[in-house]
Amino acid sequence: MLRTSNNGTERIMEEAESLNAAIIVAGGVGARARQADMADLPKQYQMLAGQAVIAHTLQAFLSSPHINVVQPVIAAGAEEIYEQATAHLDRKKLRAPVAGGATRQHSVSNGLQALQNRDISRVLVHDAARPFATNRVIENVVTALGEHNAVIAAIPVTSTLKKVSQDTGIITGTIDRDGVWQAQTPQGFDYEELRRLHETYHDLELTDDAALFEHDGQSVAICQGDAHNIKITLPEDFDLAESIIRMTRTYEFRTGQGFDVHRFESGDGVTLCGVTIPHNRRLKGHSDADVAMHALTDAILGAIGAGDIGFHFPPSDPQWRGAPSQLFLEKACDLVHARQGQLTHCDLTIICEQPKVNPHRDEMRVKLAEIMNCAVDRVSVKATTTEKLGFTGREEGISALATATVKLPTETQT
Ligand code: MG
Repeated sequence: MLRTSNNGTERIMEEAESLNAAIIVAGGVGARARQADMADLPKQYQMLAGQAVIAHTLQAFLSSPHINVVQPVIAAGAEEIYEQATAHLDRKKLRAPVAGGATRQHSVSNGLQALQNRDISRVLVHDAARPFATNRVIENVVTALGEHNAVIAAIPVTSTLKKVSQDTGIITGTIDRDGVWQAQTPQGFDYEELRRLHETYHDLELTDDAALFEHDGQSVAICQGDAHNIKITLPEDFDLAESIIRMTRTYEFRTGQGFDVHRFESGDGVTLCGVTIPHNRRLKGHSDADVAMHALTDAILGAIGAGDIGFHFPPSDPQWRGAPSQLFLEKACDLVHARQGQLTHCDLTIICEQPKVNPHRDEMRVKLAEIMNCAVDRVSVKATTTEKLGFTGREEGISALATATVKLPTETQT
């Protein structure tokens, strides 16, 4: 092992020798949390603030610097729905899912097996239905694994606990909550030891992996969990989860700009912002040549750093010949939504002498708002001339300028 006097280098070298994996267990059907409008979906695939619960959960581990590999375990037959729910996630650390077993224990066991021969030294096991594992909690578990073979995240119980008779519904006693903790996941373990215990006790039905260590007489440590690290179990938990997101998520605002020019050729009308305006010429272009919508599309792509219109729809590709530019704008908006973002405002300036744009402005705003699925007052369309100067002044073509402002969740959460 390379040792240097520099603590940072030493730590990096140690980490390079011991990979940390996270197994995300999504095997259960979660019948209790089925929502009326998504009755057929297990809770981990239901939508929460724009993406499936499991996508939030995976993102938490994919973004943690302490986790090298993420191994999902899903129910057999859930491959397609898993793919839909996670298609937008970064695949660098994310392994293809493996099928779970009949019990949670079998599912974890299948996950452990899938990680064999990959130099994994520590493994964190986490429920897919807990979307709010913070980097801090993951770090707490990994750090404690430096001293213990088994660690679980937990929080102290603060409510008074009552023992109640099943038969009479009458309290039979008050449980002393001193030293009582509520177990959460992630639970972290020495990888080889957890594998050994899964093999040894494969016929025992235990509620979690820490119980395997307890059953074997080994000590299990706790580390600080987080009150927000809830498990979505009941339908009303989705309301709580939404409010946790509102409380904890931070946003940033980004602005992009776009510019486009199309020249005139002989024809009988132009399309601007999806509105056809009769004119004695038309705009030349590969698609419908909607110069205004092109500038707007580029502004939105610019705000999220997603290239430009030519990157997504190459002019060399014949399938976009004569295509309505609405497709381009829709694609840019889809990319914003895939990042949990929202278009907050856009402003377009169309520059030409003819045709007159002003009479069509309101129709253009309504059309754009409809395509972008936003309120009309978030869309501004203006027009100007260049006082007969330059190529627009000589009526050789039309140019358009746009800015777009997008609200995006800040990537790193603590
Ligand atoms: Mg163009």
